[in-house]
Amino acid sequence: MSENLTKDLQGSIAAPPGWHTDPSQPYSTKRHGLTITNCDAEPVRTPGCIQAHGALLVLRASDLSILQASENTQAILGHEPRELLGHSVATVVNEEGAIRLRNILATEPTDRNPIYAFTLPPNGQVAALDVTLHTIDGAAMLEFEASGRSRPATRHNPDYYSFIKKSVARLQTAETMQEFCHALAEEVRVLSGMDRVMIYKFHADQHGEVFAESRRGDLDPWLGMHYPAEDIPKPARDMFAKTWIRPVPDIRVELAEMTPLVNPDTGKPVDMTFCALRGVSVMYTEYLQNMGVSAGLTMSLRRDSVLWGLIACHHYSGPHYVPYELRAACEFLAQVASLQHRAIEDRENAAYRLRLEEVNQQLLSIAAQEGGLASMTDGEPSLLGAIDAGGAALFHRDRWWRVGQTPTELQLEALGLWLVARLEAGPVVSSVYATHALAVDYPAGAYFADVASGVLAVPLSRSGQNLMMWFRPEVLKTVNWGGNPHDKPQVTGPHGARLTPRRSFELFTESVHLQSAPWLQVEIDAVARLRALIMELVIVRAERLAGLNSDLARSNEELDAFAYVASHDLKEPLRGIYKYAHQMMEAMPANEDEKRRLDGLMRLTLRMDSLLDSLLHFSRVGREDLTLENVDLNDVLADAIEMVASRTDDGRTQIVAPRALPWAMCDRVRVREVLVNLLSNAIKYNDKDAKCVDVGYVGAQEAPLRSAFPAEANGQTVYYVRDNGIGIAARHFDQVFKMFKRLHGREDFGGGTGAGLTIVRKLVERHRGQVWLESVAGEGSTFFFTLSAADDN
Ligand code: ADP
Repeated sequence: MSENLTKDLQGSIAAPPGWHTDPSQPYSTKRHGLTITNCDAEPVRTPGCIQAHGALLVLRASDLSILQASENTQAILGHEPRELLGHSVATVVNEEGAIRLRNILATEPTDRNPIYAFTLPPNGQVAALDVTLHTIDGAAMLEFEASGRSRPATRHNPDYYSFIKKSVARLQTAETMQEFCHALAEEVRVLSGMDRVMIYKFHADQHGEVFAESRRGDLDPWLGMHYPAEDIPKPARDMFAKTWIRPVPDIRVELAEMTPLVNPDTGKPVDMTFCALRGVSVMYTEYLQNMGVSAGLTMSLRRDSVLWGLIACHHYSGPHYVPYELRAACEFLAQVASLQHRAIEDRENAAYRLRLEEVNQQLLSIAAQEGGLASMTDGEPSLLGAIDAGGAALFHRDRWWRVGQTPTELQLEALGLWLVARLEAGPVVSSVYATHALAVDYPAGAYFADVASGVLAVPLSRSGQNLMMWFRPEVLKTVNWGGNPHDKPQVTGPHGARLTPRRSFELFTESVHLQSAPWLQVEIDAVARLRALIMELVIVRAERLAGLNSDLARSNEELDAFAYVASHDLKEPLRGIYKYAHQMMEAMPANEDEKRRLDGLMRLTLRMDSLLDSLLHFSRVGREDLTLENVDLNDVLADAIEMVASRTDDGRTQIVAPRALPWAMCDRVRVREVLVNLLSNAIKYNDKDAKCVDVGYVGAQEAPLRSAFPAEANGQTVYYVRDNGIGIAARHFDQVFKMFKRLHGREDFGGGTGAGLTIVRKLVERHRGQVWLESVAGEGSTFFFTLSAADDN
């Protein structure tokens, strides 16, 4: 009911006498009926009344004295309520009965669970009565109903056990849900003797559909009919989620009010949730009457304890009493059917489930290869490989990857943002979003309903940077409603204005737009599983990468440590060797040959010493921390030029910097060392009469100059040292950066250890930069380097 309507009616209609306006006063369906103000929240659990074909006594559980009695006890039990209130239950069931009740309370699980106690034999005017007992909130509820046991044999086989056994066996052979529900409807009809039994299935929006039916031959079929959600309002659905069975054996029977209306011990109305006799809502009886129903029996169908549907039984030819024993058999059948439900669903979809799982595995192995997640949209199989959908899309690495029929990228963009916000607002971020009517949740979806009325979506990461979606096109269909679902009549009843159930159940057909075929549970499960597998894969990959990185870091550290220890410790014995060779030389060698050998020995130890020094230095470069600061590179260059001055004072060497270098965030001493190494090589490996060395840079934005640079240098300032020296053959470009690698004889070009460029590379890499070269043999070389640390800041 709309809020406005409620307000209007409240404003214009004065509360007539008897209207239940004070919520602090106990409520009775019989006395207060139903008003426009309480129709959405009718107290169905505490109606204050029972159906008058039986009687209810509310007992204090501790001493079995009678606290409340239904007003009709005279007719059913032969005692007026006033003769019972405050007395022991033995007044009605004798001492023997009271003892039996005490025993049951002490030994049986009676809490919210009615248990058959005994049958009271007929007594004068009073017929034989079945007595059931349950407890709730400290009270014992004793219900009395005409017994099936005292009647002549029913028209069914009274051996309910063998009947149920046969029914269960039949249900177990069903291959599909349709077959299963059909068999269930038939079995319940035979068992209950009702005229029509429907398996009523709730849809996601809570409207219902007659999914299977068994009926008396002369009745109109209602199979496939839909009924609006309001036909079974939420309070009623909540009750069905708690209780298994709801008998209304005579729609026209009076209601009997409880005396007093509240439990005197607690001051509260008594909770009748589990009473078979619980008073029926006015809305419900009117609804059934409008349908021409004279008696009803309803059982709940649950899957994993969630209400899935109802077994709704109607009788049209007068009252139909289903005694306790028979009701228990019906209830048992409903419970068995509920337990079987998932098994049947699994059986029905087994082949599809298998195919989905198989393709999931293939998709995963595709995603695990080089192309990554994106290849799930262009590989074989793709995201459309198994799932019955028109298109699929993946948001990954900041862009959409699409396959099949999907909304446009612009539409996907907006839908993706909306979805992420919705998924994040939900209780579980990881949940799957599935709809077959997107436009209901997301009105803009109407514009692309032809490709995506149905959406099944899962996020692949918390932040929503990765999303997977499948789409189903709109399917135009007609729904047959049992009466116009938009018709919400209201009347002014004896207790004021109120809604009334529809009077017409004439066929009302409606075309449905903006809806696709609904997603099956197997599909939703499969998508959730694929998501879990992909997330596992991503995590495993990240872990593997982290593992490799730490292995690499560890082996680098170990190498540095080894180089340090080796070079440091080897220097000592080397000094010893040199000393002995020197002493032997001093002691006058025996001949020239010996002298030459000793000379060689001393030269080799000196060379080895300088190699060890280089190694030692190299290991220090790897181990010591950088001191990053904003540095004027012109100062650094000036220092470096000064340090190579001994090589430039030959009168034929010129070092120039055509334009001033920029400032950079770097370690001043380390960068000076880089420049010293490159400058001294540029001078050393140069046989020209006029040696020209030029130091400069290419700015990050100077695109035309950068065509030959590696991609990693994009967006970074590139520094260079260029010479017109001997050049390096292209095949040696990599070699020159290797430790102790020289392209010339040991003493050529002024000698060297071959460690200089290795150290340059290490220093540059410590600045997260790169070094590379260009060269033409005989013409000259250019060494380039970047200092990423500088550009980060
Ligand atoms: P070293 O200079 O001690 O030999 P480096 O590691 O600095 O060691 O250089 C390795 C080798 O690369 C040198 O031996 C030389 O053959 C070559 N090389 C380095 N710089 C240049 C250059 N500017 N021009 C030509 N060859 C060079």
